Amino acid sequence: MSDIQNMTDDQRIEQLAAHYKAILELLGEDPTREGLLKTPVRAAKAMWSLTSGYHCNPEETLRSALFKEEYGTRGQIVVVKDIEFYSFCEHHILPFFGVVHIGYIPNEYVTGLSKLARIVDAFARRLQLQERFTTDICDCLQRTLSAKGVIVMVESRHLCMQMRGVEKQGAVTTTSSYTGVFEDLKRREEFFSMIGRR
Ligand SMILES: [Zn+2]
Repeated sequence: MSDIQNMTDDQRIEQLAAHYKAILELLGEDPTREGLLKTPVRAAKAMWSLTSGYHCNPEETLRSALFKEEYGTRGQIVVVKDIEFYSFCEHHILPFFGVVHIGYIPNEYVTGLSKLARIVDAFARRLQLQERFTTDICDCLQRTLSAKGVIVMVESRHLCMQMRGVEKQGAVTTTSSYTGVFEDLKRREEFFSMIGRR
């Protein structure tokens, strides 16, 4: 493990490519045929960038754009909805993807709205479970903003279900996580109505 930690990014991508080549052979493919010659390297680079969340620090990202602001003193919710994400389920390494809706009630500090999208990416670009992805975002916001409350809802489709036909095509999995004032059902309902989900 520590050997891997000491490798450069390029060395890691090179090793990943070697493993992808072995996978192609094991699947019965011929990695030397023209169409596949560059596939191991391409797949390795794609996987490396799609898991770049392992090299991000979402808390730092948020802290880099905290603004003191009176908004929220009367309990108003900041809502950002339909933030797109793409992630991999950690059980099958197949994509799950959809949208994240975030609401929070500030306590002195607000964050740049684009930072919310950045932290969604930071948690999405790694192997995940939808449930953990949801609470990761919620807990990170709560810790960093010391908000009066945070609520996160994720709606997504899982290719491990859809491609393998275990569940009906088009099934949407919904998860939510919340803290603080969102323990109150009325505040949660307010959020759900703001994102048009009730
Ligand atoms: Zn899965």
